[in-house]
Amino acid sequence: MKKTIRDYDLKGKRVIIRVDFNVPIQDGEITDDNRIKASLETIRYAIRHQAKVILMSHLGRIKTEEDKLTNTLEPVALRLSELLDQEIIFIDETRGKLLEDTISELKEKEVLLIENTRFEDLNDQAESQNNEELGKYWASLGDIFINDAFGTSHRSHASNVGIASNLANGIGFLIEKELKALEKTIQRPRHPFTVILGGSKVSDKIKMIENLAKKADYILIGGGMAYTFLKASGIEIGSSLLDDEHLAFCQEMLEKYSDKIILPIDSVNALEIKENVETRECFINEIKENEIGLDIGNQTVKLFKQYLEKSKTIIWNGPLGCFEIEQFSSGTKKICEVLSRIDAKKIVGGGDTGAAIIQFGYEESVSHISTGGGASLKLLEGKKLPGIEIIENKK
Ligand code: ADP
Ligand code: MG
Repeated sequence: MKKTIRDYDLKGKRVIIRVDFNVPIQDGEITDDNRIKASLETIRYAIRHQAKVILMSHLGRIKTEEDKLTNTLEPVALRLSELLDQEIIFIDETRGKLLEDTISELKEKEVLLIENTRFEDLNDQAESQNNEELGKYWASLGDIFINDAFGTSHRSHASNVGIASNLANGIGFLIEKELKALEKTIQRPRHPFTVILGGSKVSDKIKMIENLAKKADYILIGGGMAYTFLKASGIEIGSSLLDDEHLAFCQEMLEKYSDKIILPIDSVNALEIKENVETRECFINEIKENEIGLDIGNQTVKLFKQYLEKSKTIIWNGPLGCFEIEQFSSGTKKICEVLSRIDAKKIVGGGDTGAAIIQFGYEESVSHISTGGGASLKLLEGKKLPGIEIIENKK
């Protein structure tokens, strides 16, 4: 058992909480604040126990100076202050005198948010490569470190593993809840055990398929992920999403797990990804050269349904189409509907998948919505998460 925030006396202590505020932001507006809400329990606990609360999170990816403009945590500070009904002190830098001085003057129950930890990636990837000096520096700003960013716990970064290596530590309520919901399912899944994989982060997730295939009975592949597999099986996919580098790998997987991997048999296509565009549904081998496959078709829904109906454990990661656009939301919606009528352990992971399920009103019909897509898949593969492994065990 890992130490938790409850194992510490927080009064008067500078408590650094690593949260996951990696929310979608469009033109400065947060379009989905579920991740902020998911962190409130731990933050409120720290406030109630008279800590001096220091929050850290990453947001998006930072490769250039311009990326900083669209990936500042300032809108998050505003939203958080509404949710907590309390002022949030936002420091628009990740290190320096202003940050240090403000922290040294921080009072009990006050909450400070540090700017996007990935701004440090412009310094030779210091955050993402878990630079030792950076982890030590951030640790020096606090007395206790609480990791509650489940969504990044499969990565070894300065803001989780780096700080934890240099400070007394524990996990927060969100990670505790995620582990409780996921660990039992992983250790002893009831069979048939089916994984639904979709979404667009193909290269991030594709490598997990091999380990999942060893544990699961069926892997239903839809969304952007499907087209690389379809191409690997010799089907023309037009202008659909393709991960060229993994074609050979997909081919190998298809050969090795031909009885487990189930691919779409039809597709909803368009010439562009936008609202109100004209769509065409066709069999999978009829996609035209200029078409983009953007959703699974009705026949695929029926096919997937057959596998889902006999499953006892279902893990879903990645939407089955561009569900944000009405014309391509049908596959994801219909699979939600199918799941709602099935009696099985149903676990959903991934920011977008969770958002889709909530948006379509099926939140209550699944067993658990995980805040971490990659992290939950890693756990399901049977791997350890570095951001959690580094946390001290209870004596
Ligand atoms: P999650 O956040 O649940 O882990 P991802 O981030 O991998 O999922 O993928 C979500 C995105 O995948 C959505 O924005 C959705 O529009 C996109 N997507 C789904 N199907 C397709 C497709 N066929 N082509 C391109 N993008 C797709
Ligand atoms: Mg996503």
